[in-house]
Amino acid sequence: MTRYTFGPVFPETPAMQVAHDAVVVIHYTLKNDAGEVLDSSAGAEPLAFIQGGGNIISGLEEALEGKRAGDTLEVTIPAEKAYGVHEPSLIQQVPRRAFQTGTNVAPGMRFTAETEHGPRPVVVTRVAGDMVTVDGNHPLAGQTLHFAVEVTEVRTASAEELSHGHVHGPGGHHHD
Ligand code: ZN
Repeated sequence: MTRYTFGPVFPETPAMQVAHDAVVVIHYTLKNDAGEVLDSSAGAEPLAFIQGGGNIISGLEEALEGKRAGDTLEVTIPAEKAYGVHEPSLIQQVPRRAFQTGTNVAPGMRFTAETEHGPRPVVVTRVAGDMVTVDGNHPLAGQTLHFAVEVTEVRTASAEELSHGHVHGPGGHHHD
């Protein structure tokens, strides 16, 4: 005779973990070393991306690996795994005539430099006489970043999302 003991029959299915090619949806707040908020998804759509696709900085991908929906984490990411170290070689002096005629070049203005490695955004940091100093470093280069993250969803990417390299729908890409 079969004997029955009281208890749950099926084990709860564990929530999907963040892994390569998974769609991950997060809310995040990014602060610098001084504790200033640089960016946040609070009050806006969360950020959706494909894990392992290089859509977010590598240090954050590493920290999220294995996490599940509902997990929260605080992570400090060194510049090397964020927007890179500050490269002095990306600061260059160029003659004013390198800019389109009629452009009143001034510090703070952003341009796209057509380099042999493709287009690169630069910011003007100084104008002295006929020489203009431009900086091609990412604004967050050299900075240690502090992220507070809440994972709101982890799911399998569709074949279409994988072929496009981005997430569709809320927090992701919207095609016309
Ligand atoms: Zn798409």
